[in-house]
Amino acid sequence: MIVPGKSMGSLDKAVELIRAGELVGLPTETVYGLGANAMDDQAVAKIYALKGRPIDHPLIVHVYSKDEVGYFSNQLPTFAHHLMGSLWPGPLTLILHKREGIARACTADLQTIAIRCPKHEVAQTLLKECKQVGIWGLAAPSANRFGRVSPTTAVHVQEEFGESLFVLDGGACEVGIESTIVDCTRGRPIVLRPGILTLEELSICAKVPVITERDLMESSSLVEQVDSQAPQASGTLDSHYAPRALVRLLTQAQIKQRLTHESTHSLKLGLWSQPLELLKNANFPIYWLEIPSTPKECAKVLFAQLRAFDGLGVDEIWVQSPKNSPEWAGINDRLLRAAHTGTEHR
Ligand code: AMP
Ligand code: MG
Repeated sequence: MIVPGKSMGSLDKAVELIRAGELVGLPTETVYGLGANAMDDQAVAKIYALKGRPIDHPLIVHVYSKDEVGYFSNQLPTFAHHLMGSLWPGPLTLILHKREGIARACTADLQTIAIRCPKHEVAQTLLKECKQVGIWGLAAPSANRFGRVSPTTAVHVQEEFGESLFVLDGGACEVGIESTIVDCTRGRPIVLRPGILTLEELSICAKVPVITERDLMESSSLVEQVDSQAPQASGTLDSHYAPRALVRLLTQAQIKQRLTHESTHSLKLGLWSQPLELLKNANFPIYWLEIPSTPKECAKVLFAQLRAFDGLGVDEIWVQSPKNSPEWAGINDRLLRAAHTGTEHR
């Protein structure tokens, strides 16, 4: 059931459901989440079950403000304080050392916890109301079945889980791709998953250089500077965010070449690219849409676009590869995973 997210009646009902150990769909500025009381292991188990998510894939805990972080973690490096101070509320998740024995189910019983403070007005109000009744945070992974495309509207959530789920409608998500995840447990901030925030932006806010896992792999001197191993969370999978149709990431030249190729003509094709002269002369159906030229605009519509192509029943989705530059890292990461074939999700 989709309800207006800003109405106090809807929010009260959502809090009542969460208190009763039930799940609620909620908007955030990144994607829609499937939320439950992070401290209630039975409620959290319902998230894993409904999503079909393996229980060793820990969930991000959403909090109202940085004041709640101390409840979950009492070991925060200075750069984590700086990141929270500058970028919260916002699309940034921090991995922190966890206080012993807390939030077991949603952290997959690890010694670390992932925490984010979302900016969306509806999420903020919900978290504030929850806090007032003693709920310190909501575990909320994306509200989609495991491996599938994340939802960026309330209708997408309903398409995933049906009428019975209570979903707060907060409009289309502003960011459109999941949060940037920064590991703060190894002495230096390390990006585990790119999002819309750039490394440059993160480094300025952290007041120390923020590095990536790739930087670590490529530099032995960096490896010596970080503490211990990466958190033992089950990593992000190669195949994820996958629509039903096969996704191919192609250069403009490759698209042109394939479009003139005979065997393409029996395909029902979705094409997300810059305008191509060639399309006017194509003698077979192509559902074409122009890919936005900035990372922010592109991220905002990316998942909705993949879903829309699926809705049209296309066999393949061809996406013109964006630039391989840092500000496109989050989008390229999602597209690569959507285009990854030959895994359990296909
Ligand atoms: P999502 O799939 O968007 O729900 O994001 C969850 C991701 O955050 C996981 O795949 C991990 O990479 C990371 N994560 C979540 N919880 C933890 C945790 N307790 N410790 C370390 N990483 C975590
Ligand atoms: Mg997800």
